[in-house]
Amino acid sequence: MSGSPVRRTPLPGVLEPAGRTFGEEEREAVLRVLDSAVLCSTFGGEARALEAEMEDLYGRTAVACSSGTAALHLAVAAVRFEPGDEVITTPISDFGTVAPILAQNGVPVFADVDPATGNLDPAAVEAAITPRTKAIIAVHLFGAPADIVALRAIADRHGLLLIEDCAQAWLGTTADGELLGRFGDISCFSLQQYKHISAGDGGLAVTADPELAARMRLFMDKGWDRANGRVHLMLGLNYRMTELVAAVARAQLGKVAGVVERRRERAAQLLAALEDLPGLGLPEAAGHAWWLFPLIVPGNNRAWADGLAAEGVPAAAGYLDRTLYANPIFTEAPVYGNSRYPLDRDYPPGLCPNAERLIQETLVALPWNEAYTKTDVDDIAQTLRKVHAGV
Ligand SMILES: *Cc1c(COP(=O)(O)O)cnc(C)c1O
Repeated sequence: MSGSPVRRTPLPGVLEPAGRTFGEEEREAVLRVLDSAVLCSTFGGEARALEAEMEDLYGRTAVACSSGTAALHLAVAAVRFEPGDEVITTPISDFGTVAPILAQNGVPVFADVDPATGNLDPAAVEAAITPRTKAIIAVHLFGAPADIVALRAIADRHGLLLIEDCAQAWLGTTADGELLGRFGDISCFSLQQYKHISAGDGGLAVTADPELAARMRLFMDKGWDRANGRVHLMLGLNYRMTELVAAVARAQLGKVAGVVERRRERAAQLLAALEDLPGLGLPEAAGHAWWLFPLIVPGNNRAWADGLAAEGVPAAAGYLDRTLYANPIFTEAPVYGNSRYPLDRDYPPGLCPNAERLIQETLVALPWNEAYTKTDVDDIAQTLRKVHAGV
């Protein structure tokens, strides 16, 4: 690009105070727990209070745990499928979406995505169902609603459990305004550093089914039925959330509505500023929680990301380096010992062409933040117009 960069000062990001909503409430929360001397949630009240507050927000029983990946592991373990059974999911997500399937000796089956959004294509999901399929994990990628009504109908038609991965979609809704996280049999949330709200690491799983809730709670705490002495009812790990994390998460949960609202206001501003640019695919605003701001670009996504970065606007070409199934864990490395078990198939290039094209060619994801000002978004828009003119 010629001339001086549009943006000279860095945009606020998630690794600095300006790009996070940590304040007096979180400081007070940390000190409250420290001063109590009870930092383990088995003996304190913070994690249980966080679960109650999550239940107020989502209308479902919540189980707090140590990460979003842990929340997904609770969910997958609660499905209780047989070793070698299959779980259908998306090739574009965090590895935390699939690791729990492998950990429970299940086989991840990848269905292709919608080329405009990167979210699961319901027809591809239905085509991937076999007699061994036990569950579907749908991700609301970047905060945009997956076609969760269609996926719910498919799950019901085939007797499968539906898990919603809401790690990127705090308070996202369908286009009709129905809250994401209320369609799945279980829905999972993350409090990792980069998410809408954070406690460093942390997770929550919610469900309306008391049996699934009971299994998840047991799996979170060594299978230990604490009401009955020292008895272990099922396999479980230690995925407990600490009281320090829970106290910070409670303060953050009180701010999530404002965070999502501010992200939506600024995203609407950027959408309006870009709508006349030919060839640029813009995300649908309806229901979007704006974890990131994805764009479908004409030309090459790496050239776009480099062009934006040269102008002082960070951008990730493709979001991932490769589809989940193109990682060595699926293509070559042993999973357990020297064996590929539980994997019983190859995951060749071309498995999900829409996903591969998004990552390699068409998708650019802009970091998004509730702290962006109108001027910040003006700068991002101006930069996108400049890069657009140059490709
Ligand atoms: C972040 C994330 C996870 C994993 O959450 P962690 O808290 O990092 O373990 C899972 N799925 C999606 C879609 C995510 O964005």
